[in-house]
Amino acid sequence: MHKIALEEERKEILKKYRSLLSVCRPNTSKEDRKLIRQAFDFAMQAHKDHRRKSGEPYIYHPIAVAKSVVEEIGLGVTSVVCSLLHDVVEDTDYTLSDIEEYFGEEVARIIDGLTKISDIFDQTTSVQAENFRKMLLTLSDDVRVILIKLADRLHNMRTLDSLPPKKQLKVANETLYLFAPLAHRLGFHAIKSELEDLAMKYTEPEAYNTIAQKLADTQEERTRFINTFTAPIRKSLQKENLEFTVLARTKSISSIWNKMKKKEVPFEEVYDIFAIRIILDSPESREKADCWKAYSIVTDIYRPNPDRLRDWISTPKANGYESLHTTVMSRQGKWVEVQIRTRRMDEVAEKGYAAHWKYKESKAGESGIDKWLKRIRDILKTSETDALDFIDDFKLNLFSDEIIVFTPKGELRTLPVGSTALDFAYSIHTQVGNNCLGAKVNHKLVPLSHTLKSGDQVEIITSAKQVPKPDWLKYVTTARAKGKIKTALKEARKKQAEEGKEILERKMRQLKIENTQENIQKLLDYFNLPSPLDLHYEVSIGKIGQKDLKNYLSEKERSGFFSYLKNPFARSKEPSAGKEPGVDPIRQQLKDKPDTLLIGDSLENLKYSLSPCCSPIPGDDVFGFVTINDGIKIHRNNCPNAVQLMSKYAYRIVKAKWMTNKSIAFLSGIRIKGIDDVGLLKNLTNIISSEYNINIRNIHFDTHDGTFQGTVMLYINDTQHLNNLIKKLKKIKGIQKVTRIGKMESESEA
Ligand code: MN
Repeated sequence: MHKIALEEERKEILKKYRSLLSVCRPNTSKEDRKLIRQAFDFAMQAHKDHRRKSGEPYIYHPIAVAKSVVEEIGLGVTSVVCSLLHDVVEDTDYTLSDIEEYFGEEVARIIDGLTKISDIFDQTTSVQAENFRKMLLTLSDDVRVILIKLADRLHNMRTLDSLPPKKQLKVANETLYLFAPLAHRLGFHAIKSELEDLAMKYTEPEAYNTIAQKLADTQEERTRFINTFTAPIRKSLQKENLEFTVLARTKSISSIWNKMKKKEVPFEEVYDIFAIRIILDSPESREKADCWKAYSIVTDIYRPNPDRLRDWISTPKANGYESLHTTVMSRQGKWVEVQIRTRRMDEVAEKGYAAHWKYKESKAGESGIDKWLKRIRDILKTSETDALDFIDDFKLNLFSDEIIVFTPKGELRTLPVGSTALDFAYSIHTQVGNNCLGAKVNHKLVPLSHTLKSGDQVEIITSAKQVPKPDWLKYVTTARAKGKIKTALKEARKKQAEEGKEILERKMRQLKIENTQENIQKLLDYFNLPSPLDLHYEVSIGKIGQKDLKNYLSEKERSGFFSYLKNPFARSKEPSAGKEPGVDPIRQQLKDKPDTLLIGDSLENLKYSLSPCCSPIPGDDVFGFVTINDGIKIHRNNCPNAVQLMSKYAYRIVKAKWMTNKSIAFLSGIRIKGIDDVGLLKNLTNIISSEYNINIRNIHFDTHDGTFQGTVMLYINDTQHLNNLIKKLKKIKGIQKVTRIGKMESESEA
């Protein structure tokens, strides 16, 4: 590289370093700054020959991570030092003992944690989930490890552009699957939203860009509205001598998109695109009173919706969130959400507990964070299920709100809303759950299915004779309890089946059916059962008896052979534990093929099919997923199942691309809404089948009070073909809305 360019780079590095120092300044002594300088020099030296994928000097990355750790997470000097050094041991010749020698034992321990987990995410399948849990559990001895890792991921997501597309998708999905929920769980709202938006940019670029564009297009109009709306509020707050800031917070792109999908509405109909936030600069002693004062001012000006008042000041959320929310009617007849909180509450909401504890202890810095770390550890330790369950449980519990209940000894338990007495029992211990007879809630006897409320005191009654019943699955809501019950039921079934195996062998001897694998398979086919275990089980509970076996024999004699009954998906034999039959041969075949699976290529010998969960058609962004028994399934990149598949089974993903081939048709669906009109249906089908020459598979219409709603399933060649049709149908008089099933409206207009 040219000397001048290098000189420029050096300047840029120093600029970045100085900006790091300036965000640290309010909470650092001269000593601290010396230490940071040392770490910076060390990292500079260690990474001097490294560059990021983007070509930039590597040191940009540790500096950016260190800056986030201070600015966005609220940690102190030790964490800044560790962030600067976080990739040194992994990527350079320096060792952990070098770090320890220069920076001491504490820093070395944190770097060790960071190094150990750094390659977790190159792993595959459940290894990744298991390691993730380990990272959370064992390494959370020092939660700073996790927090620095979070900052590391944040910067990697911010610079994801420079990775190759295949990597981008993997990293983005992993972020959605693990890091965004983690950030949420820890109360880092701003980081969570940013991670989700950054990920969506890569997983669903089309939707992302459409929404970003619409937000930009409506910005001016929004600003005008907000100014008019907040003017009288500002005036009254001033009159009351309150110190305040009024902000308008626009929803993140990903949460707008989620809302559009959930409510099936276009962008224009998402009513809470933004919220007004009033931040009060009140001393801690007056916080609550001032917030309610502001509430009363707002609701004197605008009429509130009484159903939408949320008071998280009196009872903060489990992740520490405090705020007062109300929704009021603007003069233009539009509902507007107003959030009222103090500066301290706002910091907690944006930065999580770290910020919170910084305020609680008078001394700034990390010493005050200890309490917070303990709290996080407690949250993380509450689960002892296997790794994938843990992650699911962890995620599941994030998306629902929580209740807090007490054990008879007054210990606190956090459970998702809707949890039952049985969920509580399983949250205590698996055995307590399995043996649960009933419960006493606030000293009154209740059934297992009793739904708990916040503040309940719960005592579980057990009996050693009690065992889980299939019905129990209906009584629980937590993933943990469900998993445990399923495991217990499976165990019981297996035991029962063992008895059945002996009975079956005896009966086969009596009927002179030789006990061979082939004959067992024939029996499975005849009784239409998936595995010998199922056969044994049915025998043991008497569902298959002597008579049925005799019927089998006589039918066998009649037809000679049953091949016509054979289920094409039945396995020829039980898979050995842990192995996934079918995956390897397909992998092997793929190895000899070009990197990308071409869909619609008849020369390709691989077996693939289009997944019914998202019905991809040519033009959609797609990927292939290698299934165990059913070849390769093609999914759309924005298939609701994609995130899970990609992050759990990254090694089974294959790149896929459409071959343009007009002769192949794909099943897809459209949804139509409009005003009921004579001849409309005829008009519609006419356009579809005559004008566009598209085959209709089925059509379903409901009319109600002069309006109609319908779905049409069609065989389509590609997205272009479908979009043209949708455009045309929209022009029919009386039709108000035409959407592709499972897709947002604006996309079909693209
Ligand atoms: Mn890094």
